Amino acid sequence: MSDAPARSRNPLAFLDAEIEELKAKGLYRQLRVVESEQKSRCVIDGREVITLSSNNYLGLNTHPKLRQAALDAVERFGAGSGAVRTIAGTMSLHEELEQRLATFKHTEAVLTFQSGFTANTGVIPILAPEGAVIVSDALNHASIIDGIRLTKAERKIFPHADIDALRSSLREIRAADADRTVLVITDGVFSMDGDIARLPEIVEVAEEADAVVLVDDAHASGVLGRNGRGTVDHFDLHGRVHVQVGTLSKAIGVLGGYVAGPASLRTVLEHKARPFLFSTSHPPAVAAACLAAIHVLETEPELIERLWENARHFKAGLEKLGFDTGNSETPITPVIVGAGALAHRFSDRLFEEGVFAMGIGFPTVPEEKSRVRTIVTAEHSREELDTCLEVFERVGRELAII
Ligand SMILES: *Cc1c(COP(=O)(O)O)cnc(C)c1O
Repeated sequence: MSDAPARSRNPLAFLDAEIEELKAKGLYRQLRVVESEQKSRCVIDGREVITLSSNNYLGLNTHPKLRQAALDAVERFGAGSGAVRTIAGTMSLHEELEQRLATFKHTEAVLTFQSGFTANTGVIPILAPEGAVIVSDALNHASIIDGIRLTKAERKIFPHADIDALRSSLREIRAADADRTVLVITDGVFSMDGDIARLPEIVEVAEEADAVVLVDDAHASGVLGRNGRGTVDHFDLHGRVHVQVGTLSKAIGVLGGYVAGPASLRTVLEHKARPFLFSTSHPPAVAAACLAAIHVLETEPELIERLWENARHFKAGLEKLGFDTGNSETPITPVIVGAGALAHRFSDRLFEEGVFAMGIGFPTVPEEKSRVRTIVTAEHSREELDTCLEVFERVGRELAII
């Protein structure tokens, strides 16, 4: 037996303190559990609700063609890929998906990653080696922020969508050093506000400074541009945005991320992007379902039309009721209420009344801009959206938001 003295201190006690702090701040949340297929109506925590919280913009995650493609791939290739891409984990389906995406996006090459998150953490350190400078929008996604943190580059944050600030920042950088690599990063669609990046102006000021432009189109993939090709296509900027990050996890309905750009970028990523090198590739069913999704985008454009009709109807309804919907221009519509506690109360009451819309507060958005975020999809019927509007009106009045 050891004669060391018995210890009573729990070395993980700081976790309990952290949980207490979350509770004290009203930030403690329990995960909502979806117990059915992800449709516009779902069973969540035992209750049937209309969901306004899914990124399944086009309903593709239950589309018959995607289901069938996934099933066929499991039959033919099995459940997993067995290795990282650089060892034995590159399957013909992965290569086929990348070629298909490159054609779809009108770029030389595409490399897929396990998620949009890992696409950003993989590509940003490659585009911004030591000595480079990154200029990033203040509201860019967490995966961009983490990607930047992984670099040794200098970073400058410009106020959200402030083109004048971006221009002066770029001019200052260039005046000091004519040769430095400069990388400008923006979300294509900002996920908390639903506004679209001012990409034509961003490209113009970046061109003046010979800066590289990276746009992260996670919420624009499958939503904006012809057949959902994204913001570069939406603004007709083909050939002027160097790198596009996309996700396969939102409108595409499956899982994954990708980097679309020049062939040279793909080659360097293959050799150096850490999530690509050190994390196992997608199961065959994922790649096969993504391939089917691109086919659906190309052959069923009516899904995107319905998405936008629904978005316009719902947004106009919220505005007519007097809600503050900020600067939204896409199917993401925030309902800004002010304090975080009120946003969570609003969300909880909506849920009790059969509508699932997530409350979002600090640190995701500033405390005084806390909100309930809504996302409509192509799958919502008019009747479901009108039911949601009635519930928003009733609960909004009850909580004196309108
Ligand atoms: C959702 C999102 C991601 C992450 O994509 P996943 O495929 O879910 O990992 C990256 N960037 C932005 C802007 C996003 O909204």
